[in-house]
Amino acid sequence: MHTRRTFLQTSLAATSALLADSLGVEMIAGAAAAVEFLAPGDADFAAARALYNGGIETQPKWIARCTSEAGVQQAVRRAMEKAGPVAVKGGGHSFEGLSLNDDGLVVNVAALNELRLDAKTGVLTAGAGCRLAEVNGFLMARGRFLPAGSCETVGLAGLTLGGGYGLFARKWGLTCDHLRAVRMVAGTGEIHDSRTEPDLLWACRGGGNGNFGVVTQLTLQTRIAPKGFSSWKYRAFNLNAREATALLAVWFEATAALPREAFSAWVMNGRQVTILLTTIGAREQQGLAAFRAKLTPVTDKASDAGTVPLAKALPRYYGEPGPQLFKNCSAGFYKGFADLEAALPAVFAEVLHEPGMIFQVNTLGGAIADGRGGAYAHRDCGYLGEQQAFWEDPAHAKSRIAAAGRIREHLAQAGVRRHYVNYPDLAFHDWPTAYYGEENYRRLQGLKRLYDPQNLIRHAQSVRLPS
Ligand SMILES: Cc1cc2nc3c(=O)[nH]c(=O)nc-3n(C[C@H](O)[C@H](O)[C@H](O)COP(=O)(O)OP(=O)(O)OC[C@H]3O[C@@H](n4cnc5c(N)ncnc54)[C@H](O)[C@@H]3O)c2cc1C
Repeated sequence: MHTRRTFLQTSLAATSALLADSLGVEMIAGAAAAVEFLAPGDADFAAARALYNGGIETQPKWIARCTSEAGVQQAVRRAMEKAGPVAVKGGGHSFEGLSLNDDGLVVNVAALNELRLDAKTGVLTAGAGCRLAEVNGFLMARGRFLPAGSCETVGLAGLTLGGGYGLFARKWGLTCDHLRAVRMVAGTGEIHDSRTEPDLLWACRGGGNGNFGVVTQLTLQTRIAPKGFSSWKYRAFNLNAREATALLAVWFEATAALPREAFSAWVMNGRQVTILLTTIGAREQQGLAAFRAKLTPVTDKASDAGTVPLAKALPRYYGEPGPQLFKNCSAGFYKGFADLEAALPAVFAEVLHEPGMIFQVNTLGGAIADGRGGAYAHRDCGYLGEQQAFWEDPAHAKSRIAAAGRIREHLAQAGVRRHYVNYPDLAFHDWPTAYYGEENYRRLQGLKRLYDPQNLIRHAQSVRLPS
């Protein structure tokens, strides 16, 4: 198609127009602007930069708000002329703000939010800007479902490219296990389709976050939506570290018998532990009864939320609206209780001492363990830990972040070394191996050389070029 050099839409602020002009922005003739470049003074800049983590102060030089794949390509090509760096922003939920950079270009794909479903095959085509609640709403109105995470505003692409787990992953696998194809504007400015490049699909199943290019579209196999959703909660109050350790040991033992339809989380918040149990299967399944029989006598309060339609249950887990002030990160993948037992006295001492600290363990396993392929390297681990620290008063940031750092070190000293890339921490030791394992990381580095040989697309923990 014929292209012409032009200024941006007149509605854009003067600073953007000047910036865009200096970048030599090209737009497709006759089409609406495929990309708008926003500079810090522009009215929409703050919204385009906004992250869920309100404590991140990173300030990009400009943000390319793209409304089509062609716009993404134009943005990447202009950044190539300036030698980058380029960060990629979808739903903006990166704990560490890895979707922004300082003094570079951020490609914002939020407007690529088209959803299409092939009713015969159940195959979903989603723009990379879609958020989980949009996907849920669109699919469930059509009797379909995509197993993913819980928070409604998380970006589908950011979640899937790093793995993606949630309440339904033991039954059906990770979100990335449902990925059938991606389209991506690489760091070279070229468009790639994984239908003809299977290694790209492999990388995007757990190793694709801001590493090689800008994913513009994802094709995913959906499931028939489950009808009912049942859940229970168990609470234990006023625990000390020894009691919390004993309760966690019982929980690990009880989860071993859970059916695949079920999910459980063990959440310690100060002196209180809450245990969540959910299922999309029959309430009377044997493993569930055994779990409940084990947990009831060792907790103070049990509650049964009954069985409700899935659409009614999902919003319960949508979480708080952003921005929030927090420091969250992976607390490691585990095969069982023994993997973290040595760290628990010190970890729980921190959770009990510093207000606002949460230590959580979630069940994985089931279909995740059966899955094959992809850069996700932790199928052998049936559990994932996460630590969280929240505050409202900025004055509390320092002590919360320090406590989170001590928990990270206690776990590392106890030998917990594998971490979830979607729960990053800039201070993880040897993060490439922690996220991907050595073999997968080497393979990802080979793909980095292929798709982004100039390392244009980068953030603090993006895959490095091989030396
Ligand atoms: C409140 C909350 C709840 C969460 N719940 C879950 C959960 O239940 N399950 C789970 O697995 N995870 C969960 N997460 C983690 C979540 O999966 C990651 O934070 C995810 O990376 C967020 O994606 P995003 O697009 O929203 O974020 P962004 O900050 O926009 O992006 C995150 C990373 O993905 C990259 N990226 C985003 N879009 C693209 C693209 N189109 N092309 C290439 N790279 C891209 C970015 O460069 C960045 O490195 C949660 C996070 C939060 C804050």
